Amino acid sequence: MSESTVRIGLVLPDVMGTYGDGGNAVILRQRLRMRGHDAEIVEIPLTEPVPNSLDVYTLGGAEDSAQRLATRHLQRYPGLQEAAGRGAPVLAICAAIQVLGHWYETSSGERVDGVGLFDVTTSPQDKRAIGEVATQPLVPGLSQPLTGFENHRGGTKLGGDAKPLGRVTKGVGNGVGDGLEGVVQGSVLGTYMHGPALARNPELADYLLCRALGVDSLPPLDLPEVDQLRRERLRA
Ligand code: GLN
Repeated sequence: MSESTVRIGLVLPDVMGTYGDGGNAVILRQRLRMRGHDAEIVEIPLTEPVPNSLDVYTLGGAEDSAQRLATRHLQRYPGLQEAAGRGAPVLAICAAIQVLGHWYETSSGERVDGVGLFDVTTSPQDKRAIGEVATQPLVPGLSQPLTGFENHRGGTKLGGDAKPLGRVTKGVGNGVGDGLEGVVQGSVLGTYMHGPALARNPELADYLLCRALGVDSLPPLDLPEVDQLRRERLRA
C-alpha cells in the first residue's frame, strides 16, 4: 500500500454485514481503480480498534443483537467519530443509522444509547418495512433518483441538525410518516437502502469519493450494466 492509496474502512463486517452491504466498499474501490487510483479495503472486525486515519468509511445493516455489539465497540473505540470530526465521509446503512444516532429502541423495547453522530432517534414501528424503496435526493450535489431495498422495523426521527437524504417516491423510508429517507449530517450520510446502495446509485458513490479525495468532481465512468440495473430497479 503506497502513501497515495485511498483506504476504505469497512467497519465491523463481522457483525454489521448481514445484508451484503460490504459490497458498498467494493464499489468504492472499483470506481477508484477504474479512474487510476490505488485503493484498498481495510476491514475492521470486532476484535480491533477502529482507526481514525482512513479516507472513507462504510457500515452495513444488522439484526438487533449484532447492532448492540457494534454500538458498544464504536463507543469503546471512537476512531469513526474522530474521523467524521475531521470531515471524512461515512456511509451508514440501515441499522448503522440507528447505531450512529442518540439512541434506538430494539424490537423488544430496550433503549440503547448510540454513538451520537446523527441527531436522530429510532423506535420500532408496528409494521416492518420490506421492499423496494426509491427517493428523490434532497442533498445538493445529488440529482439522480435513489434506489434500494429496505428491510427494517425501526422508524427514525430526524432532529434539527440532521437533514434527510431524499423524499420517498416509493416504499417507506425512515418510517415515521414524514415521507423522508435517510439522514445527512456533516460528512456522515445514512440510508435505509440496501442493495448494496452504491451498486445501484453510482452518483452517491462518487459523492462520497469526491469528499474522500477532496475534489469537486470525478471523470464519468461509462458502465452500461449499471445503467441497466438502475432502469430495472427504478421500474420495479
Ligand atoms: N434491526 C434494525 C431494524 O429492524 C435494523 C435492520 C437492518 O439493518 N436491516 O430496524
